[in-house]
Amino acid sequence: MAKWLKPGNFQFMHKVLLLPGDGIGPEVVAQAKKVLVHLKNEYGFELELEEALVGGSAYDQSKNPLPDETLRLAQSSDAIVLGAVGGPQYEAVERELRPEKGLLRLRAELDLFANLRPAILYKALASASSLKSELVAGLDIMIVRELTGGIYFGEPRGIRTLDHGIRQGFNTLVYDENEIARIAHIAFRTAQKRNNKLCSVDKANVLEVSELWREVVSTVHKEYSDVSLTHMYVDNAVMQLIKDPNQFDVMLTSNMFGDILSDVAAMLTGSIGMLPSASLNSEDHGMYEPIHGSAPDIAGKNLANPLATILSVAMMLRYSLNETHLADLVERAVQYVIDAGMRTADIVSTNQNSIGTKEMGDAVLIALSKRD
Ligand code: NAD
Repeated sequence: MAKWLKPGNFQFMHKVLLLPGDGIGPEVVAQAKKVLVHLKNEYGFELELEEALVGGSAYDQSKNPLPDETLRLAQSSDAIVLGAVGGPQYEAVERELRPEKGLLRLRAELDLFANLRPAILYKALASASSLKSELVAGLDIMIVRELTGGIYFGEPRGIRTLDHGIRQGFNTLVYDENEIARIAHIAFRTAQKRNNKLCSVDKANVLEVSELWREVVSTVHKEYSDVSLTHMYVDNAVMQLIKDPNQFDVMLTSNMFGDILSDVAAMLTGSIGMLPSASLNSEDHGMYEPIHGSAPDIAGKNLANPLATILSVAMMLRYSLNETHLADLVERAVQYVIDAGMRTADIVSTNQNSIGTKEMGDAVLIALSKRD
């Protein structure tokens, strides 16, 4: 991890790269930036901010969704805050140049193999869940998803035409034992920081890759005897998440299963506009982003909920920058605005007024100032 000493004293200068991206990305990242600048101005948080293009906006400018300059800045930063990439205008673009490819390449180049996705339900938002309040009250799950391997990256892949003229799509699900072991270590360590409870999710009754996954996770478990480990098939895990989500604490899973499970867990909380995520490498260099996409349907309308991105900043302060106190402050400020009844349109209930993206960002700043 790059660390920069400020001339004249021994405080660390944190280099943070902002990648607003496409759609609502620039709107929500602007609110996260306001929070970071507030921490810099009011708390002496040593911060050097850079900004660069990624995804569709980068493609528009340079026909490359991950320009070299963006990659260089990403590699020399301590942490990255990303908005979102993509949009319908890029669907006709050649697959390799699509916005999502820029993001996948960035994750691969930085070796961000561990994706941490918390699903937390704030008490005041319990009615936003599609499940009964008593089932989801106090929900606090952490999904640890492998992010740079598995079927999304496996080779060979493609669409081919068979001898009899029928087209066939094919992908490869592949994990080696080192890939499984390193994500398992992250999951066990995450469990140790929480309630020492880990559930590994696989499909070992059908897939050989899952058989190896289960074996390696069980071997790594021997180094973490204080953590209780269970294994669950993915289809059951989805059912259990909906039936009794509070039985879970940390869930460990592969790339594709994690993609689906974390969206299910997200929906238990009622709004994808509230959920942050972290993607880490083995040196805790991380990229932090809301779990939602670029939401083209509401882009440019000051309607997007910026709290997922602001909570991503809190995760960055905690996991990459070791600024636990500032992370707590930001999380408490978000809790404060929710408890005070501030709602963007996505989390508003009947008889409540909603506020816009900028106004929600301002409310968090006011809450931060109140608690200074
Ligand atoms: P999406 O998350 O962008 O939107 C799904 C729904 O949730 C929409 O109705 C949207 O308005 C709403 N929503 C999302 N974020 C919100 C927020 N912060 N506040 C309020 N409402 C919000 O998913 P999608 O529509 O399937 O995808 C749109 C584009 O985003 C696609 O191009 C997709 O490829 C891309 N995408 C990018 C990422 C990423 O950058 N990591 C992730 C998912 C999707």
